[in-house]
Amino acid sequence: MPTPPNQLADRNPAAAPDAARLEEVRPGVHAWVQPDGSWWVNNAGAVGGAEGLLVIDTCATADRTQRFLTALADATGGAPIRLAVNTHQHGDHTYGNSLLPAATVLIGHEEMREGLRTDFIIDGCPAFWAPVPDWGPIERRLPDVAITASTTVYVGERRVDLLHPGGPAHTTGDLVAWLPDDRVLFAGDLVFAGLTPLVFMGSVTGALAAVDWLADLEPEVIVPGHGPVLVGGEIDRVLNEHRRYYEFVLALAEGGLARGATPLEVAGAVDLGEFAGWADAERLVLNLHRDYADRAGQEIDLVAALCDAVTWLGHPMPTSV
Ligand SMILES: [Zn+2]
Repeated sequence: MPTPPNQLADRNPAAAPDAARLEEVRPGVHAWVQPDGSWWVNNAGAVGGAEGLLVIDTCATADRTQRFLTALADATGGAPIRLAVNTHQHGDHTYGNSLLPAATVLIGHEEMREGLRTDFIIDGCPAFWAPVPDWGPIERRLPDVAITASTTVYVGERRVDLLHPGGPAHTTGDLVAWLPDDRVLFAGDLVFAGLTPLVFMGSVTGALAAVDWLADLEPEVIVPGHGPVLVGGEIDRVLNEHRRYYEFVLALAEGGLARGATPLEVAGAVDLGEFAGWADAERLVLNLHRDYADRAGQEIDLVAALCDAVTWLGHPMPTSV
């Protein structure tokens, strides 16, 4: 019998909100790293300049976002947050937006803005996850500046390129924040370090192409959307894991479609092999749904995909948020 998911959070103190830490990856460049990086537990960050900060993403809950902003204020002497950017629409990166100062100018891709505008999970999380997350006192706050292509902002003297991969990848409105002078990449959910990647609201082939696009930047530091900060040889290792995982999903989808199997049937019979140790393995079902829909030229049924993921797992998806 599966472990009741409402016990998982109790069993995992390493994922408690107070386990999150601010890591200064370059002078004035901070990553907010939240263990364990599984469902709804994201990373964020900030870039400092002479006159204030650019914040990259918020967190899912008011509590986790406030911890981030308090730690950032402590580390920067209360520097004002002049700009913020959302790397994509998902609630773990955006629901805390309303805790940013009112004067902060928030930037996002146009598709990200529309995705958050029409998001219904912010109004009450469905029971696909357990314990069912409570976001706390947050409100939907959308970007003030919506962009459709790459752009550059300056934080004091520091250049930050906000780059769009050119098509769907993790979602349809992804942005990464690239600091060319520091060679630091805030990759958002184009990179999951040591956890199962999720692309069901984007594209498996697009996410695979985006791995090469990220590698071509030749970053020295990657702050992933989930999981620990990557440096040195860890970067190639993790990017290669993503390539192999996406190719694994594509091969499973192709084989499953050829023999008339559903995504759930394909995932039910699969040996996860080298990916078996990653958290959130049920995302395979979601990713297969995405590729099936794309191959058929149809819209994905997100609710059916989430129901199948819960069926595959045998219980709601665990979260420590
Ligand atoms: Zn995401």
